[in-house]
Amino acid sequence: MRARVLKSTGSWYLLSDQNGNQYKARIRGKLRLNNSKNTNPVAVGDWVVFLKLEDGDVVITEVEKRKNYIIRKSVNLSKQTHIIASNIDLACLVITLFQPKITYGFIDRFLVTAKSYDIPVTILVNKTDLWQDEHKLEAKELQEIYKNIGYEVFFLSAENKIGLNNLQEKLTNKVTLFSGHSGVGKSSLVNSLHPEIKLKTSNISSSNEKGQHTTTFAEMHEWPFGGYIIDTPGIKEFGLVEMSKYEVQDYFPELLAHKNECRFNNCLHLNEPNCTIIKLVEMGEINARRYKNYLSFLEDNVVE
Ligand code: GDP
Ligand code: ZN
Repeated sequence: MRARVLKSTGSWYLLSDQNGNQYKARIRGKLRLNNSKNTNPVAVGDWVVFLKLEDGDVVITEVEKRKNYIIRKSVNLSKQTHIIASNIDLACLVITLFQPKITYGFIDRFLVTAKSYDIPVTILVNKTDLWQDEHKLEAKELQEIYKNIGYEVFFLSAENKIGLNNLQEKLTNKVTLFSGHSGVGKSSLVNSLHPEIKLKTSNISSSNEKGQHTTTFAEMHEWPFGGYIIDTPGIKEFGLVEMSKYEVQDYFPELLAHKNECRFNNCLHLNEPNCTIIKLVEMGEINARRYKNYLSFLEDNVVE
């Protein structure tokens, strides 16, 4: 029988089968060794095959291939990784123009890592109730920039219940993760769609502070309208995947769209002659701030 893992404690797992029946399951010893790089063989979001034993115990015998997953490095065992959650249909990146102030570098870094994990992102701009005219202009510009490269941008107010129907429609029957800085309104948005949830997400301010996430486990909650939200402590942003400097441009859709149009096929678009990307930036076809964030990503985050 097949089921989805809704919750993991490290020693047992809560499963839900296609009919919504729930089971508390353990794993077989053999499964533990399948992938030695991961500290957890079964993660929240996994589709698994399970058996009901005669004594009533339920055991997971197999983990189905994951469509995607997010990881964090184990704190102690540096080569090992912990799978936080898998089979994610959508990541909602919640941002605000101010309170707290928007950081475009953070947005672009998030989009790059989500792309490298193969997770689609929708950008949710919250707290529209606070906007003055100047903010409306900035929001329109932001929406235009990200829409042009394939990202949907929603304008919302959890406070005034604006845009929540559209959001609900977007989330229906999907497995979704909410990310973003502390204070942008993740819990408020989620609570307006599902009043009973008390998110763990909001209790930790930053995911990348060392030492605080040794035993944190994600959990999925079902929306009243169908689909799930993955609640995980401290997912402000995803842990970075190691990537080579040549790979980074594949995760910027507007750069990827012009792959192989430069004179050199290993062009990094830094200052090489006859670089199509640099030309497009100069012409304003590619957003200059995104290009700048590409450059700083190259500088900071790649393995040589
Ligand atoms: P989280 O840390 O991302 O989960 O953010 P919270 O949901 O805890 O919200 C942080 C603060 O912003 C709280 O004081 C909320 O009341 C407030 N807040 C959330 N959404 C809105 C909104 O749409 N408009 C306004 N004005 N305040 C909001
Ligand atoms: Zn180039």
